[in-house]
Amino acid sequence: MTSPVSPAADAVVKPDHASRRSHFIFTDEHDQLRESIRSFAERELAPHAEEWEETTFPDWVFERMGELGFLGLSYPEEYGGQGGDYYANLVLAEEIVHANSGGLAMGIAVHTDMATPPINLFGTEEQKQGYLAPAIRGEKIACLGITEPNAGSDVSGIKTRAVRDGDEWVINGSKTYITNGHRADFIVLVAKTDPDAGYDGFTLFLVDMDSPGVVREKRLEKLGMHASDTALLAFDDVRVPYDAVLGEEGKGFYHIMWELQGERLIGAAGCVAGAQRAFDRTLEYAQERTAFGRPIGKFQVIRHKFAEMATKIESARQMVYTTAWRFQNGEYPVREISMAKLHASRVAVEVADECIQIHGGAGYMKEYGIERVWRDMRLNRIGAGTDEIMLDVIGRSFGV
Ligand SMILES: Cc1cc2nc3c(=O)[nH]c(=O)nc-3n(C[C@H](O)[C@H](O)[C@H](O)COP(=O)(O)OP(=O)(O)OC[C@H]3O[C@@H](n4cnc5c(N)ncnc54)[C@H](O)[C@@H]3O)c2cc1C
Repeated sequence: MTSPVSPAADAVVKPDHASRRSHFIFTDEHDQLRESIRSFAERELAPHAEEWEETTFPDWVFERMGELGFLGLSYPEEYGGQGGDYYANLVLAEEIVHANSGGLAMGIAVHTDMATPPINLFGTEEQKQGYLAPAIRGEKIACLGITEPNAGSDVSGIKTRAVRDGDEWVINGSKTYITNGHRADFIVLVAKTDPDAGYDGFTLFLVDMDSPGVVREKRLEKLGMHASDTALLAFDDVRVPYDAVLGEEGKGFYHIMWELQGERLIGAAGCVAGAQRAFDRTLEYAQERTAFGRPIGKFQVIRHKFAEMATKIESARQMVYTTAWRFQNGEYPVREISMAKLHASRVAVEVADECIQIHGGAGYMKEYGIERVWRDMRLNRIGAGTDEIMLDVIGRSFGV
């Protein structure tokens, strides 16, 4: 048996720490995609990152990304997608961090990996032509409406109601914390259609946001993710046609639970990439900043902080990649997705916090952008399922 590294007996083998770390799920095509998304993010988005913290990022970002083919990486070519695999979406989630804007990354991810996947999987041909194809082109912006003022973690507690009236449905209720809610052209909405049917009483709807009765009530202010828009929405006797139902009537709860798996895994990939980016920037800082006559990175305490962070980031990355491999290969790995989401979001917040520490006072200053990483990353322990809900899903999967 040969060992993976088989040097000649008299050779000296040294590790090449600077070499590229490849992973078996990615091909050369993914690498090319990686390069083009990164260069787009660095050249066309990052220069505006600070400005967009004040104004939220503009809608042209969707159009431009549609033009470049980045909004439909894994969607079928017949709807304008690139026909790629799930790993292409991971590449997008990882490389968009080079825009230096967590809010932008979230707004895009909601569009590509949260609101549109149910249309691709459950939609009719008409819905795919009417919503998915323009979303892939970046002409229509999507949002996803699950959370309500009185029901977040407990999705089955939502109250928004859709009642059948002849050939139409009439929707009443409200949704909150809706990312892209102010700019969106349509919403994938979860509503209750049969209050007596338990988990079988929910249905997904595709609702045009310019329908009479849809009110974009309030632009919500947040701790971080300032470049994204977050809305409180009201639905006041909103009438939609009968065929606005997305997927099977009464199966909306199960459809949305499926959607959440992709959302959580993409979120986890974004956390790993965000943590890595903060790590890289901090490493540079620690090599330049001096104290007591040496670069701060040369203190063992600081060196060990980097070692701890790198180890955590690598563990989260391996969980995300292996879980993505399972997902891509037809498994429905809910336990592992929940673990990856839980672990990656915790790691991202821990790393961002430690990066602030290594920066000292500079870490607390807006100018260095590290405090923003912490504020942005903090959302990940709450959004798309809190840490506590992830722990519960994992625990229950063992039958306890
Ligand atoms: C910036 C931002 C963007 C968002 N974007 C969207 C979006 O686009 N679309 C959308 O639909 N939603 C969105 N959300 C909502 C998000 O998914 C919810 O905030 C999240 O699921 C938590 O729900 P909640 O806020 O109602 O908290 P709650 O459910 O009220 O939870 C409060 C606390 O109780 C804990 N808790 C609740 N139940 C349990 C339990 N069974 N066991 C143990 N602990 C429990 C929670 O973990 C948490 O710590 C967004 C949220 C934010 C902050």
